[in-house]
Amino acid sequence: MSGSDHLMKTYAPLDVCFDKGEGVYLYDNKGAKYLDALSGIAVCGLGHAHPTVTRAIQNQAEKLLHTSNLYCIQNQQQLADRLCNVSKMDRVFFSNSGAEANEAAIKLARLHGHNKNIDNPSIIVTESSFHGRTLATLTATGNRKVQAGFEPLVQGFTRAPYNDIEAIKSIAKNSNNTVAILVEPIQGEGGIRLPDDNYLTELRAICDENDWLLMLDEIQTGMGRTGAWFAFQHNNIIPDVMTLAKGLGNGVPIGACVAHGKAAELFQPGNHGSTFGGNPLMCAAAIAVIDTIIEDNLCQRADQLGKRIREGFATQLSELSAVKSIRGKGLMLGIELDRDCPELVGLALQQNCLINVTAGNVVRLLPPLILSDQQADNIVDIVSKLIIDFCN
Ligand SMILES: *Cc1c(COP(=O)(O)O)cnc(C)c1O
Repeated sequence: MSGSDHLMKTYAPLDVCFDKGEGVYLYDNKGAKYLDALSGIAVCGLGHAHPTVTRAIQNQAEKLLHTSNLYCIQNQQQLADRLCNVSKMDRVFFSNSGAEANEAAIKLARLHGHNKNIDNPSIIVTESSFHGRTLATLTATGNRKVQAGFEPLVQGFTRAPYNDIEAIKSIAKNSNNTVAILVEPIQGEGGIRLPDDNYLTELRAICDENDWLLMLDEIQTGMGRTGAWFAFQHNNIIPDVMTLAKGLGNGVPIGACVAHGKAAELFQPGNHGSTFGGNPLMCAAAIAVIDTIIEDNLCQRADQLGKRIREGFATQLSELSAVKSIRGKGLMLGIELDRDCPELVGLALQQNCLINVTAGNVVRLLPPLILSDQQADNIVDIVSKLIIDFCN
């Protein structure tokens, strides 16, 4: 393959091309079969070529692909109803990607500030976060590698350490232009970092006291991934704003900025928009995703499978001192080693298994929620052996 000279060099892809998928398996163009423990980075939560999603896309494609947000789009209304029903939130704006969903959230925060006569509104973001690649979202991202070369960055962000409530309290005491906090309930790219159990609850309280918007980036954690529809539901709180993308369309590009209470009333006609956002095709796919997660009880299933996989790794890797931590929630899983291990991705590929390494030394697994117990055990066996061989 070795690729085309006409693609910009934004990626350094592995030497494999997939041309078919079915459930948890992918097939390359030579017919070899791979176990997919990454789901296209938490996108294909229902696995590949899920029949319900495929049929929804086929049916919609035969009827109508696109009109415009100048007209009423019934699929968009139905999808918003479903999202608000499962999140207990109020209104949705649809985008085409995660970064765009976060852009909408950032604009909501600034409107909220200006409505309070704050001319220079600032949003708190955290270290080692990831929020996207547009100029505002790469500024919000807590990773210098994502920002370097793209200065000047966007104004209006304040950085705080992740999982540090005292740091947020101190900003609250010393700043009068803060309007919101944007944070991931579990950091994904940052290394599957789980905050303390009460972190989100305490952030909620601080936001209430200061009239800040609590804005949760659930682009990776949402859509059943952590064993609940959304990670905030483990804490029994409701954010003012939540962003979604990845698993929402099972591979069809769609993002959403969901808002609750007064944050849901901030945008007025003319404030924001998107040509493709919420078009009939992408909404048909996302409706099928939501209905399938409900029908097949996949939130509960993700919780069970996550426990099974973590216990499996704990057993198989118990002797290995190179393993610093095995962690995660539901099917968002990380194994932290005492050394960098980017080579594991290629070694896993040689074993016909797709995994990811993030933050240098964290093996990240985001398998589809439709795994069988047997397939979950296969992932544990293959990845444990790889890690043991790599560290010995
Ligand atoms: C993937 C991701 C994004 C960016 O989504 P895109 O669709 O690539 O723009 C933002 N935030 C989090 C937490 C993500 O995991």
